[in-house]
Amino acid sequence: MSKPLMEGKKGLIMGLANDKSIAWGIAQALNEHGAQLAISYQNEALEKRVKPLAAQLDKEPLLLQCDVSDSASMEACFNELAAKWGKIDFLVHAIAFSDKNQLRGRTIDTTRDNFAMTMNISCFSFLEACKYASPIINEGGAVVTLTYMGSERVLPNYNIMGVAKAALEAAVRYAAMDMGEQGVRVNAISAGPVKTLAASGIGDFRKMLHWNALNSALERNVTPEEVGMAALGLLSDCGTCITGEVLHVDCGYHIQGMLRMKNIEQNVEVLTEG
Ligand code: NAP
Repeated sequence: MSKPLMEGKKGLIMGLANDKSIAWGIAQALNEHGAQLAISYQNEALEKRVKPLAAQLDKEPLLLQCDVSDSASMEACFNELAAKWGKIDFLVHAIAFSDKNQLRGRTIDTTRDNFAMTMNISCFSFLEACKYASPIINEGGAVVTLTYMGSERVLPNYNIMGVAKAALEAAVRYAAMDMGEQGVRVNAISAGPVKTLAASGIGDFRKMLHWNALNSALERNVTPEEVGMAALGLLSDCGTCITGEVLHVDCGYHIQGMLRMKNIEQNVEVLTEG
């Protein structure tokens, strides 16, 4: 391998639930390129799932508890990070949440409480993480968050999460201006669908995966490892003048203007079952 891209760099990954998580794909890519990782987990139950993954990394990671719906927990997490490491070079935000009962049916039926919770965990937490990272992130550092094309177009069942992702993408642009003044870049990756814990809450997700594979330019779905490689590009010196961007890492699904009729005709049964 040529020179590791992240040698000597340290950073925090938020949103690692298990080995299917997009955050795990990112952690592996950063680890392979020499980064030292801190990983935050929401609660003790998650700590148990994160520990065996942490043990697979080359450099022992710093594990921090952080419930992003609670500002005190967020502040304590970044204070501990600053106390242990002083400075960081990157931040990965891979967190979203909504009531799964409202990730089906009509978006206009979303409740006020679930709207507030979805925006709070899926969008505000990104801005707050940037706020706490700002004093400790080195010049030349970078932030990446995860979004989905449901922010730009209407997809069945993505519902209020699409609205939250649209807000998140706008937040990326505003944060990029704020943090650009300190030489820090802020970007989003719009990943194609990946079978993870969070995704399993979305109605008909299995069909969505199948549909994407049939209709993306590359006729397949993206893997968490491939999202990880794209994040590596944005977080490393490969991306030194990319900021405020939403990069689609979705096998080209977002450029599709019409369905591939040959694939639809051959898969009618799978697409219409259930
Ligand atoms: P995942 O493995 O389930 O990860 C989601 C993470 O968010 C989990 O670690 C979850 O912890 C965490 N989280 C939720 N509420 C939290 C809170 N209050 N405090 C701290 N952490 C909290 O699913 P994923 O699909 O990899 O999701 C990562 C990101 O990628 C999300 O932003 C998602 O919207 C985005 N994305 C996913 C896809 C896809 O198809 N999978 C596509 C595009 C974008 P808990 O397990 O405790 O809830």
